[in-house]
Amino acid sequence: MSRFFSSRLSSLTPYTPGEQPKDAQYIKLNTNESPFPPSPLAVAKASEAAKQLNLYPDPTCSQLCEVFASQKGIAKDEVIFGNGSDEILFYAFQAFCDENTPALFADITYGFYEVFAQLCQVPYEKIPLRDDFSIAPEDYFGQKKTIFLANPNAPTGMILQKSEIEKILQNNPENIVVVDEAYIDFGGESCCDLIARYDNLLVVQTFSKSRSMAGARLGMGMANRALIADLNTVKYSTNPYNINKMTMAAGIATMQDESYTQKNCQTIIENRAFTVAELNRLGFFVLPSKTNFVFAAHDKIDGATLYQKLKEKNILVRHFTNARIANFNRITIGTKEQMQALICAISQILEETT
Ligand SMILES: *Cc1c(COP(=O)(O)O)cnc(C)c1O
Repeated sequence: MSRFFSSRLSSLTPYTPGEQPKDAQYIKLNTNESPFPPSPLAVAKASEAAKQLNLYPDPTCSQLCEVFASQKGIAKDEVIFGNGSDEILFYAFQAFCDENTPALFADITYGFYEVFAQLCQVPYEKIPLRDDFSIAPEDYFGQKKTIFLANPNAPTGMILQKSEIEKILQNNPENIVVVDEAYIDFGGESCCDLIARYDNLLVVQTFSKSRSMAGARLGMGMANRALIADLNTVKYSTNPYNINKMTMAAGIATMQDESYTQKNCQTIIENRAFTVAELNRLGFFVLPSKTNFVFAAHDKIDGATLYQKLKEKNILVRHFTNARIANFNRITIGTKEQMQALICAISQILEETT
C-alpha cells in the first residue's frame, strides 16, 4: 500500500478471482466458465461490430434491451445491462444500501457481496446457512436490510424454491431483495416473472455462465422501472458506456440464438449427473446442484490436498479456505471428456493417498 492510498479503503480486502493460468495445459474447472465457445452468430456479429470501434457504444443499450425484454416478457425499461453482473451488483450496493439499510447475506455465498459492502462502506451482516448448507428463508424475514441471495447459491450449488423466495419478498415489503441468478439456466426456476408483482425485487443474471460469454463481460438486472431508474442513476454517474460495441453485438446475437444456449445447458446438466454419480461412487459427499458446478467433499482426503494433487495432474478446481467449507472443492462441469479425465485423476489420487 502506498502512503497515498485513501484511508477509507485501507482495510479493504479485494475479491480473489479463480486462477487464470496463461499456459493452456490445464483442464480448467475452477471458475464456472462454459467449456463451449460462444454462439457462432455472436462471434460473427462481434467481429463486425469491431469495425466501428472508433465510435462510442449506445449508452442506453436500446437494441439489446429490446431483444432481451421481449424474450423475457418484460418491458424495455425493466432491464439494465452491466459490465458483467458484478457491475449490476455493485450498482445495487450503491443504490440500495446505506448506514440505515445494511446489507444482509449468507455466511457462505458469493464472495463479492462482502467486498462490495466494504467498498461502499455500508454495514453488513451474515446469516449462517443451516448445517446442511441450505438457506433458512425465515432467517431473512423482517430484517430491515437489503438482502442479497445467490439463487442457486455459490459455491454450494443449492437452490431455494421460488415459493420460498416469494415468502422472503412478502416478509420484507420495505426492503430490496436482490436475487442473483447467475446459474439459473442449469435447471432452476427464475424469479424474473415476479418483478411485476414485487416492487422490492431485483433479479440479476449474467451471460458469463450459460451463454458462454464470460470474456465479453455482460450481465443484467431486471426489476420494476423505478428500481431500474435508480440503477441507471448510478450507471450514468460512473460509466454510461459500460457495454462495449462488440459485447453488445454478441449479446444481441446470443439472445437470437437461444437454441444454442439451451442445447449447451442441457449437455452441462447431463454431464453434471454423470459427474455426481461418479463422485458418489468414489465415496464423495456431493451437495445437490442446480448449477454448472458441484461442491464435493471426501472424508479420506482433505479439500486442500485434493485441490493440490489435482493441480499437479493439470486439473484446476476451486478450493476455499473458509473453515466451514475447507474440506470441499468446487468443481465446474465441463465437457464429458473433461469430466472423465477428472474422475480418472481423482481415482488415482485416492488410490495413492488412502
Ligand atoms: C459468476 C457469478 C457472478 C458474476 O458474473 P459476471 O461474470 O460478473 O457476470 C455473479 N454472481 C454469482 C453468484 C456468480 O457465481
